[in-house]
This record gives sequence, structure tokens and C-alpha cells, in this order.
Amino acid sequence: MEHIVLGDEAVALGALHAGLSAAYGYPGTPSTEIMEYLLEAHAQGGPVARWCTNEKTALEAALGVSFAGRRALVTMKHVGLNVAADPFINGSILGIQGGLVIAVADDPGMHSSQNEQDSRFYADFALLPCMEPRNQQEAYRMSAEAFAVSERFHVPVLLRLTTRLSHARARIHTTEAQGQNPLGKAPDKTQWMLLPGFARKNYAALIEKQGPILAWSTAHPQNTLELEGRDRSWGIITAGLGGNYYEENLEDLLHLRGGKQPARLHIAVYPLPVASIRRLCEEAQEVLVIEEGQPFIEAKVRGLLPASCRISGKLDGRVNRTGELDPDLVRLSLGLPPRESVLSTGLSIPPLPNRPPQLCQGCPHGDSYETIKQALAGLENTAVTADIGCYSLGAMPPYEVPESIVCMGASVGMAKGAADAGIRHVVGVIGDSTFLHSGIPGLIDAVAAQTPMTLVILDNAIVAMTGCQETIIPSAKLGELIRGLGVEEEHLVELEAKRSLIKENAARLRSEIHYPGLSVVIFKRECLEAARRHKKKSAPNGEGQKP
Ligand code: SF4
Repeated sequence: MEHIVLGDEAVALGALHAGLSAAYGYPGTPSTEIMEYLLEAHAQGGPVARWCTNEKTALEAALGVSFAGRRALVTMKHVGLNVAADPFINGSILGIQGGLVIAVADDPGMHSSQNEQDSRFYADFALLPCMEPRNQQEAYRMSAEAFAVSERFHVPVLLRLTTRLSHARARIHTTEAQGQNPLGKAPDKTQWMLLPGFARKNYAALIEKQGPILAWSTAHPQNTLELEGRDRSWGIITAGLGGNYYEENLEDLLHLRGGKQPARLHIAVYPLPVASIRRLCEEAQEVLVIEEGQPFIEAKVRGLLPASCRISGKLDGRVNRTGELDPDLVRLSLGLPPRESVLSTGLSIPPLPNRPPQLCQGCPHGDSYETIKQALAGLENTAVTADIGCYSLGAMPPYEVPESIVCMGASVGMAKGAADAGIRHVVGVIGDSTFLHSGIPGLIDAVAAQTPMTLVILDNAIVAMTGCQETIIPSAKLGELIRGLGVEEEHLVELEAKRSLIKENAARLRSEIHYPGLSVVIFKRECLEAARRHKKKSAPNGEGQKP
């Protein structure tokens, strides 16, 4: 069958057709659409699909599915893998039963992220296979294949995506869907209990698997080595979307080089096919590496080849070291002149206005930031730590309130540390879903130490930034949860985030900021976008079922 799908949706379809039993994830751009697709399939009777509290709990649930012999998919963005790193690394030495695939979408260029880390390093660190599709068809095929690879080597498999692939749509051909695995027999306990005595044996077993895993990646049909009839003095290594960008420029490159096409290796599955790299480079005087993300291949290749072979790529500046690749940048790396464009035609085009991201007009966070601003006005020795979500836009004019934004949940721990260090008026700002994701442990630390700080929770009753997914527990239960953590009843304050109440709310918040102990202030009002979607969903014509 033919489908026109996003790269993310191709991954979801591949998993469904491979007999997926359960999928878990935490929303994060650019990975969110994988789960959105699977949630819709679940609503129509498909396999289990659930958003989880965070990426760690998602991966742990998937481990449980694999333990039971069935196939599980976990989805997250690249920074989510930091949160899931513990079960990810430890999962590498478990005796995986049902196939376990971890689809991680990297965001080179940081379109919607706080860094541009490259997940291939994680797979390498954990000694696990990694697959990197370069188009939607490969995303579909590799998603399905990854389950078989996981079951063949009894290890989790990382499926690495990047923004342009995740969010671009293309036609794919699908194959027949297979059924789910039956429930497996009880696994060998020693392979699932990482007590030191068992873990040592399991780690040794993982090391033994490295040879067969390397043989698999070397022989993989998507790791293509092109030597026949090629100019072997110049070797090109491409990976992921870098392969597409290279091919877009090939015609001009051939023209420039009198028809001489460089020898080339495209890498789609890892560990690195070392023998193929050595063959590519046998006669090469120079090797250019074009890869999306960090210089993962290039750094490894530097250790494999003799000093006489010049290696170039991101590390010597031949390919851009930061941000995304694109065909025009790859073109320059290949020594081609810039493409003729409107800029070089001499046409005068008006400069584009600078349009920094902003909170929606009327967003409750705007009123909350205005309240925090007024509450802190005139106070000395203050600090405001904030977190990841729409409310990070409060760092922009006209609010400019947060002074730190680091990673999910960090606002709470940082507020505690700043108070411990002696800052008198400390406010941590976190959204409701981020609080549930990873803010709770930090708050427990603050409760235990009775830290003099105020945590402000911006409760808009939704995971807004990634497209309005439901929070893991309803917003109405937030107060109850916080009370249960040990926050004093009289210093747990719930306020409505409303423009007309800013003055009154600021006075209440200020009194909590002055309190020399721990307080939590929850500002409540539904996200406007979520309200709009809820209204549309409940409209009689049933429009807008899909968020
Ligand atoms: S999507 Fe919702 S939370 Fe985000 S800026 Fe808009 S109104 Fe605010």
C-alpha cells in the first residue's frame, strides 16, 4: 500500500506493521508525532499507546513489555534520552526478549531544544546497534527491522531521527502487517536482575555480541560502499540526511570534476562498518565526512586511518560544526560555488522583520509573569529560575523574568541551590507537566530541607508546547499531590492567573516570597490553544478530533 506520511509517522507505521504490542513516550519536538499516530491507532483498537510521566518511566514500561516477550517502542526527543539514560544504559545488558526499539529524534540547529546533542553517542556508549534512516521509506523499513535486530541480538536498538526527516512528508510503500508476539515464557532471571554477579556475566555477554553486531552492520544493505569506477583519491562518507544533501549536489560536482565521481560510503546502521571505511580510504588522499549532528563518524574515522590521509569535515571547519546541514552548505563543503539565488541576482529584496517567538496573545503565563515581576519589584537579593515549556518565552520581552533555563525540572533544584547559597528571595518557575515530569524530586528535597524558597507552578492544564497533549494526571489533583509531598497547607496557595487579578495575586505571592520557609504558589488558567481545541472537539460536527 501507499501512504503519504511524516518521517515520524513512517516510524509509527513500521512499528505497527512489525507487530508492536505497546508504545510509550513523552512529548518532545521533533518526536511527538510518532506517539500521536500510535495514540490514534490505539483509539481504533490498535496496540497500547500511552504518554508517560517522563522518558525514564516510558522506557521502563517498555522494558516490562520486552520482559513479557512482546515488542515495544519508546519515543522521545534527544534530551529525553538524558532522562532515560539509566534504564537505557542498563537495558543494554538485559536479555531482551520481545524487540525493544527506542526512537529518538535529534534536533540539530536547536529549532525547539536547549542543545543539539547527537544520540549516536549514546548508542555507541551503551554498545548498542543504531539505525539512521535518510528518508521516510527507510524510516518505515528500519523501524520494522529494528525489532527483528533487537530480538536477534537480545539488545535494545536505537532508531535515530533528525528534525527534517521527522517533520517532512513523503510517499512510502508499506508491506503486510504481522501479528504481535505471543506472551513469552518467563525469562532467565539472571538476565534481568542486575545484581553484581549477574551483571558482570551479562556485560561480558554484551561484549561478546559486539563481533556479530559489527558483522551485521558491515553487511547491511543500507551501508553502501561505491568504489567501482570511482575516483578513489577522494572518499566521501555520508550519513543520514547528509547523504541526500550530497546527492542533490552530485550533478554539479561531476561537472566541476570532469565527470570523476568520488568513491563513497553511506552509513545507515551502526556500529561503524570499520572494514568498509578502511576499504573506502585505501587509496584516498582525502576523506570528507558529511553527517547531520555532531562529528560522530569523523572523530572515529580519525582514529582509524593513517596520518597520510587527510580527513575533513566538521572538526576542521570544512562542514559547518553547529546547526543543521542543508544542500547549500554541503555544496560549499564539496568545493562547489554557491548556487545562483535571488541574493546574487542583484534584485533588491526588503529585509525580513525579526520575529522572535512569543507567548500567544492573552496567554495565562503572561499574566503570571507580570504578577511575579510585580511581586519581586523593589526586592533585593532575588533570583528566578525557570524551566522548559511555553513559559520559557517569559525570558523574552516584555517580561524578561527568568534568569535560568537549563533542563526539565532544573528550576526546582536550582532554586533550592540558590537559596542554600544565600540568595534571600528565590522563585522557581515551572509548568504543571514539567513539574510532573521531573520537578517532584526537587520539591521533595526542598521539603526535606525546609528550603526558604517559593515554587511557582504555572498550571495551564495541558502539555502546551508540544501540541496540547493531556497531562499525566488532571490538573485538579496537583494541589493534593503537593500536599502529599509535605508542603505546609498554609503555604500552598492556588490563584487564578488573570489579568484583572495581577495586583492582588502579586501581593499574595510577595507575602510567600517573604516567608522564610518553603512555599508553593500555583497559578491556574487553561492554555488558550488547549481551550480552543477542546471547544472544537466538542463541537457537534465533530471537527478537530485530531489535535
Ligand atoms: S500555547 Fe498555550 S501556554 Fe503556550 S503560549 Fe499559547 S496560550 Fe500560552
